[in-house]
Amino acid sequence: MQKRLSLVIVGTIFISFMLLLAISSASIRYFGMKGAEDKAAIIADLIQDGLTAHMMSGTMEQREFFLGKIGTAKGVESLWVVRSDSVINQFGKGFNNEAPRDAIDKQVLNSGVAYQKSEETSTSAKLRVTTPYIAKERNTPNCLSCHQAKEGEVLGVVSMVFDIQDSRTNGLLTSLVILLFSIIIMILVVVIINRSMKPLLELFHSINFVMEKAQIGDYQRRVRFFGKNEDCKNVTFWINSLLDKLESTLIDIESTVKKFLSLNPASHKDLLIDAQNIVHELSNIYQFKRTIEFDEDKEHVYQRIGMILKETLKLDDFILVESGKNNICPTIVYDASKMKKTISPTCRALRTKQTVYSDQFKNICEHCNNMSEHYLCVPYLISNDFELLLSIWTNSAEALDVIKTKLPQIQNYIDAARPELVSKNLTEILKVSSTTDGLTGLYNRKYLDEYIEKALSQAKRDGATYGILMIDIDFFKMVNDTHGHDTGDKAIRILSKILKESIREADTAFRFGGEEFLILLYQCEEVMIENIAQKIRLAFEKAPIPGSNGASFYKTLSIGASMFPKDSDSLWKCIKFADIALYNAKENGRNCVKIFDHKMVEGKEMKSEF
Ligand code: GH3
Ligand code: MG
Ligand code: MG
Repeated sequence: MQKRLSLVIVGTIFISFMLLLAISSASIRYFGMKGAEDKAAIIADLIQDGLTAHMMSGTMEQREFFLGKIGTAKGVESLWVVRSDSVINQFGKGFNNEAPRDAIDKQVLNSGVAYQKSEETSTSAKLRVTTPYIAKERNTPNCLSCHQAKEGEVLGVVSMVFDIQDSRTNGLLTSLVILLFSIIIMILVVVIINRSMKPLLELFHSINFVMEKAQIGDYQRRVRFFGKNEDCKNVTFWINSLLDKLESTLIDIESTVKKFLSLNPASHKDLLIDAQNIVHELSNIYQFKRTIEFDEDKEHVYQRIGMILKETLKLDDFILVESGKNNICPTIVYDASKMKKTISPTCRALRTKQTVYSDQFKNICEHCNNMSEHYLCVPYLISNDFELLLSIWTNSAEALDVIKTKLPQIQNYIDAARPELVSKNLTEILKVSSTTDGLTGLYNRKYLDEYIEKALSQAKRDGATYGILMIDIDFFKMVNDTHGHDTGDKAIRILSKILKESIREADTAFRFGGEEFLILLYQCEEVMIENIAQKIRLAFEKAPIPGSNGASFYKTLSIGASMFPKDSDSLWKCIKFADIALYNAKENGRNCVKIFDHKMVEGKEMKSEF
């Protein structure tokens, strides 16, 4: 920069001086030439007047002295006079040297036009001037009074050769002086530029360096200026103050955020970009937290975590697993695995409560290794009751390294979801305990009330049908009486297990009363109801119940069945009808299935117990 500036200024000065040099040498040459020409004109006039005077005074014989004297004038190298033919005819040939000496003399004699030309070689410079004397009547004295010639005739010429080497030498000398002068000025300019620009350029370079470093995230560099210029000192101060403020603010943001957000240790390349990422992440996590607060249950929260892992964090082959205390019943709660992956209770990460990386040790987790070579499993403790496990598979070790850099971000989302998962889990436990029966794990009467409402509105919407079974153990009182209450409980549990195993997922079993159970068979065809009821009856009949005396015994069931909406458009009424059918089964010898028939209630008054 400094060099370029010096070059431009010195170049401009050089060109200006060269122009000046050219103009001045041309002027010197012009004025040298002009001086010689003027001198030639004066000498020519002088000779004419002198010769005329000699002629008039009759001393023409002495003209040679006069001409010789003039020929010694400064700058005149040679001078001669030439007579024209008319003068020769009238006055004779004159002296020997008054004949034309060259073609120029002859040319001017013939044409009457003056000749003037310079001849220059490397060593000499000369000006040849040949001027004609023309006869003029009106001249004073009148030429024609002595000369026998016509008006306008050429009477003779005077030729002069001037040495103009001096003016050329002067021109060269002047040029040399100008050149010298310009070189001195150029050197001076370079020195001044160097001295005044150097500190500015040093400051400029320092700012450039500091800004370049800041651009790649290094805010620790500062601008340095050692000169005395006040403006430069101010610029240095303000830039450095700004950098101080920027650096300390960014470090402060980072250390504050670190307290509640896991940061990627691979970052720290640019504090400003890190700060921007932190703000984005905080905002995303806040939004996520706000959203899951209003999610209905844990399942919805898992779906949302899964979506974030997939769409925001770009994981494409993973499962999210919920596991109970001591790895009980690990269940996949979000599945984004490519080839259906499974989870085993012996999973190393679940067992050790530590992150497992496939590159930690060869075949570190046999279960995961069977599914893919590159994997990573991270356990997240959510509460004392349950934990989450995130298992991720990748195609390559490099892709696994990329996933590792995302772990802090994943941790942030799990941390944000943790309180919601805990509270939703508690709500679920509470809800289950209030709607299920403690002895059998089946739904209780309280839940039946809620269920009937939902089932009714669904039936209205999509025309769902239900098969209803009312089941009661025959002579159950005897069990208690013979074997005690605990054995009775065992028998109830055995029956409830049979009920659970005999129905589909869409069906629902309730403990309706002591040893009385209700089953709602969703979209069940009429012909199937009796089959299912018989299947249950036979299964219980064959199920051994361990008695208090060590020997097993067997009990039977009576089952009453009805159909909704075939028997009534009220579900409650249909349940009542199933109960009536059960009563009918009891009346007809027990250990049998009876399908409700309106004949069963003919002539009887319906009691609305439910
Ligand atoms: P039936 O064939 O007419 O149904 O005769 P049953 O003896 O089964 O009928 P009953 O209604 O007279 O007796 C039901 C008994 O079931 C009374 C009660 O002590 C017993 N029971 C009800 N709930 C439980 C329970 O949770 N555990 C135990 N062990 N017994 C129960
Ligand atoms: Mg009974
Ligand atoms: Mg009963």
